[in-house]
Amino acid sequence: MSESKRLFFAVEMPAAIQRKIVRWRAESFPAEAGRPIAAANLHLTLAFLGDVSAEKQRALSAMAGRISQPGFTLRLDDAGQWLRSRVVWLGTRQPPRGLLQLANMLRAQAARSGCYQSPQPFHPHITLLRDAGQAVAIPPPGFCWSFPVNAFALYESVFANGRTRYAPLQRWTLGDPPKEL
Ligand code: ATP
Ligand code: MG
Repeated sequence: MSESKRLFFAVEMPAAIQRKIVRWRAESFPAEAGRPIAAANLHLTLAFLGDVSAEKQRALSAMAGRISQPGFTLRLDDAGQWLRSRVVWLGTRQPPRGLLQLANMLRAQAARSGCYQSPQPFHPHITLLRDAGQAVAIPPPGFCWSFPVNAFALYESVFANGRTRYAPLQRWTLGDPPKEL
C-alpha cells in the first residue's frame, strides 16, 4: 500500500508578486505581529484535500483535468485579520467569478471523492502571517497588485526539518479569458 500525501489545489503566484507582498508586509507589520510566511510559500488555496492516497490522488487529478474554464485576473486590494484562526491575510474585495467557479468545482470534486470540505463558503485569501493572535492595525495594500491567473496546481504540503514547504505536483492551464468584442 502506498502512503498518503497532504494535498491541496491552489492558484500559483508570480514570484514578482510574492516579493512585492513580502516587501509591503515588512514595512507594514511589526515583527511581533505574527509568524511571516516565506515568499515562495505565499499562495491562494482553492481546495484543501487533506491526506490523500495515491489512488484518490489519481482520481482527483483526472477530475481536475476535465475542468474547462477561462482564466481571470486576480486583484489583491484587500487585507485583514481573522483573530480566531490567528492569521493576517491579503485578499480581493470582489472575487472574480472565474476564481469562485474554479474553487467551487474543485471543492465539489474533492467532496465527491470523500475529502472533507467545510460547509463554509470559500473565502479566497493569501495568508501573510500566522500566529497573529493579537489585533494588529492592517494598512490597506499599498498599490494595486493584479495578476492574470492562467493556471492552477496541485501541491503537496511537506513538513520536514521543522518547516512546511509546498511542492507543486501537477499544473493545469486555464483557457483564454473571453475576448471583448
Ligand atoms: P503548517 O500547518 O505546517 O503551519 P500550512 O498551514 O501552510 O503550514 P498545511 O496545513 O499543509 O500547511 O496547509 C496547506 C494549505 O491548506 C494552506 O493554505 C492551509 O491554509 C490550507 N488548509 C490547511 N488545513 C485546512 C483545512 N482544514 N481546511 C481548509 N484549508 C486548510
Ligand atoms: Mg496548517
